[in-house]
Amino acid sequence: MAKMNIKKGDKVKVLTGKDRGAEGIVLAAFPGEQRVTVEKVNLVKKAMRPTQDNPQGGISTMEAPIHVSNVMLICPSCKEATRVNVKRENGKKVRICKKCGKEID
Ligand SMILES: [Zn+2]
Repeated sequence: MAKMNIKKGDKVKVLTGKDRGAEGIVLAAFPGEQRVTVEKVNLVKKAMRPTQDNPQGGISTMEAPIHVSNVMLICPSCKEATRVNVKRENGKKVRICKKCGKEID
């Protein structure tokens, strides 16, 4: 299984689709499906059943997962959308920005 180098809390840029160019924070990562949900990206409307908290029900919007290949990590150091190198340091995985060479995390 391919590893994902993007995880929850990362800032990413969307490369394709209707939200191309948008930037947002990864809300959730699904490594098994190689998908992520990104804040305010790929919003879908969902009909809500009435509940005790929301007796009216109605329509709410939520982020639908997009494939991880459609986003690129934005490096917190150089603020560029970048690919990452992964290296092992003391048995721990460290992500390195290919643009500026700084560690990401
Ligand atoms: Zn960088």
